[in-house]
Amino acid sequence: MIPVVMPTYARIDVVFERGEGAYLWDTTGRRFLDFTSGIAVNALGHAHPYLVQKLTEQAHKLWHTSNLFRVAGQESLAKRLTELTFADTVFFTNSGVEAWECAVKVVRKYQHDTGHPEKTRFIVAGGAFHGRSTTAIAAAKSEKMVGGFGPLLDAFDQVAFDNLNELRAAITPQTAAIMVEPILGEGGIRPASVEYLRALRETADEFGLLLVFDEIQSGVGRTGRLFAHEWAGITPDVMPIAKGIGGGFPVGACLATEKAAVGMVPGTHGSTFGGNPLAMAVGNAVLDVVTAPGFLEQVQATGAKLEAALKGLVERHPGVLAEARGKGLMLGLKCVTPNAELVTRLRDNGLLVVAAADNVIRVLPPLTIGDAEIAEAVSIIDKTCREV
Ligand code: PLP
Repeated sequence: MIPVVMPTYARIDVVFERGEGAYLWDTTGRRFLDFTSGIAVNALGHAHPYLVQKLTEQAHKLWHTSNLFRVAGQESLAKRLTELTFADTVFFTNSGVEAWECAVKVVRKYQHDTGHPEKTRFIVAGGAFHGRSTTAIAAAKSEKMVGGFGPLLDAFDQVAFDNLNELRAAITPQTAAIMVEPILGEGGIRPASVEYLRALRETADEFGLLLVFDEIQSGVGRTGRLFAHEWAGITPDVMPIAKGIGGGFPVGACLATEKAAVGMVPGTHGSTFGGNPLAMAVGNAVLDVVTAPGFLEQVQATGAKLEAALKGLVERHPGVLAEARGKGLMLGLKCVTPNAELVTRLRDNGLLVVAAADNVIRVLPPLTIGDAEIAEAVSIIDKTCREV
């Protein structure tokens, strides 16, 4: 008999009932150190008092009115996001893939409305994980995601990640945009080189393409800058974000320049729930914390410590771990032994991490962790590696 929850995930048999900071407790009372952050979502950890306060205050006032009306929280969050980034305008969604779908529409409409209706294709890179909608799996092309769901939109040309020559060779008169993650998340925590990201900006300008950075996983402080592309000193034209901006509440957003969003006039896009007052209360609260003086510098310092500690573990256990890589607190451990087995063993020892492609385990702690959590995680990884 099919489970009542549609079995699209091979779920781990554990139910959490409480979280605080970087810790989760399951229904048996067992405590786990959560270095998944709900796959880079709980940027401020679990039950952050300020987020709880802002969410409950809003819950007593107003939950939802729809986008038929102005929403004050949207206007304030959009204003702040535009002041903090390259963007001039923001569309709010409930998830990452919806933010990414909005980016696809912004690009298509831009090329259409600026006299290039033939430019409809997207160059994507490195496995291209952008979500699970039919359009997003068409970009990913992986048989695991695509199998049985066709026919899919034929609009994506996939090239190797961090390889400029291959990307330039794939450009045709039909190309509308380049869409990449500045750091591959699901693809195995692979940061693109600064030179590559800068060259993408130049290439997009040279060929009249829009540049889209998917910062759904890498954004909102995860790398120690508000957005990962800032490390390269360049800006995209369009940027879907989600995950961290909601801190655990479903929030996504598609940020765009005025130029790129030229065609997004009333009636071109919509969402019933997107940007509702509850979501916006949390989004604004997350931004309050992440943009507070010293917060991102602290993430950089914590990230450097954790990365150094992970590199130490790689040196100590060359038969189990091959490499520590990433940026800020978006870190990955490439494994020698199967990553899935290591994820299970780590969980058995009390540390939660997430598997990714390229035999990597993702280490994505809340941005708020300190030395104690790092020491505990390192000791669990060390012990686990000795057991393998
Ligand atoms: N894009 C990237 C880079 C992601 O990492 C993800 C989710 O892991 C998505 C898009 C899809 O986001 P969501 O699962 O919220 O639809």
